Amino acid sequence: MGKILRVLSWRNMLVLSLAINFSLVLKILKGDRERGDSWDRTAYVSIWPVVSTTASGSSSLSSASCNYSKIEEDDDRIINLKFGDPTVYETYWQENGEVTTMVIPGWQSLSYFSDENNLCWFLEPELGKEIVRVHKVVGNAVTQDRYIVVGTGSTQLYQAALYALSPHDESGPINVVSTAPYYSSYPLITDYLKSGLYRWGGDAKTYKEDGPYIELVTSPNNPDGFLRESVVNSSKGILIHDLAYYWPQYTPITSAADHDVMLFTASKSTGHAGMRIGWALVKDRETARKMIEYIELNTIGVSKDSQLRVAKVLKVVSDSCGNETAKSFFDHSYDAMYERWKLLKQAAKDTKRFSVPDFASQRCNFFGRVFEQQPAFAWFKCGEEIVDCEKFLREEKKILTKSGKHFGDELSYVRISMLDRDTNFNIFLHRISSSSNSTL
Ligand code: PMP
Repeated sequence: MGKILRVLSWRNMLVLSLAINFSLVLKILKGDRERGDSWDRTAYVSIWPVVSTTASGSSSLSSASCNYSKIEEDDDRIINLKFGDPTVYETYWQENGEVTTMVIPGWQSLSYFSDENNLCWFLEPELGKEIVRVHKVVGNAVTQDRYIVVGTGSTQLYQAALYALSPHDESGPINVVSTAPYYSSYPLITDYLKSGLYRWGGDAKTYKEDGPYIELVTSPNNPDGFLRESVVNSSKGILIHDLAYYWPQYTPITSAADHDVMLFTASKSTGHAGMRIGWALVKDRETARKMIEYIELNTIGVSKDSQLRVAKVLKVVSDSCGNETAKSFFDHSYDAMYERWKLLKQAAKDTKRFSVPDFASQRCNFFGRVFEQQPAFAWFKCGEEIVDCEKFLREEKKILTKSGKHFGDELSYVRISMLDRDTNFNIFLHRISSSSNSTL
């Protein structure tokens, strides 16, 4: 009898502890959900690497041989498509990246200086050379007689450009505007230090103030992918062109861009966001000098190791374009984006529960053929019955996106990254196409 009681009590204890643990887990999940935005961040930090990768850290499907019908669905996975993390390019670099491998010995990169004869004294000459070469190969920007300023991502260069182009007199902060929907980081970066030199002035479409202002022109645009030109009709506008997405995997290259200040980044061209390298092509010497001054004051230059790695990656990209026997980087990345957009547009057509923008076709000088934009983000509009598209996708579909409100637009829009790994893109597509529990 005593023995039976002992066994029973052990079993009871076990059941009891399982029940307590289970209710604890439920409570945590519920609490997280109630915390709203912080829940998003937790999900991003803790779940992303797990859901996105196989044990080896690589995508389980290769974009080179996309199999978007093979879904590895798991209803509980949270799919984070909030950020433009360019992991779609991972498979290309896994398959072709051996040639970009570098060994940097300990005696290298001791000096702050890279090239004391260059105005941009912290630009590695090798990187400067490969930047000029890749623009020549692709034909997307004029580099002749331009100053190259390297930055820690184009995020730093944006701030350097604001510093260089703002009047440093007593006239007060200059307004910085961009047409909505604009890149959500612009207002935040512009205002976070409450600079006396510049301040966020809002949507360029409705900007009416007199006097000088800075207009940001992002083309193709983040978040909606359209090609853009300046809209404020005044001679007092100073322009910064953010051309992060002016590469042939996203848009036809129709001419070599030739603006006063043009920003580019490794993040969206080759997918090496983690190397944190961007570059500006600047016409005016004094503007370039002030941008360089900003970077000197801000970070005393830019990581040499990162510059050398990007130089190598750009070299491999340019070399691949002249290689007749293997698929070039841009062929590969174009195909990946083409496939994804084809499937997304088809899903929009089939379900009629959401829409994505329509783009016009243009001839691309680089590929020598006509095609439509296939942007890095989908500017996704939920059906009319859904007021808050971001909330709906998060709560009903477990898909994290960025609400239109962050881009100066409506809640019925969200921005969805098209640059995640195949596995996540597949699940996203499957969930928005499936009719279960949804009015999407
Ligand atoms: N400009 C635009 C339009 C972008 O979308 C991004 C990245 N999301 C950046 C700049 C920042 O690029 P980087 O990683 O080089 O700082």
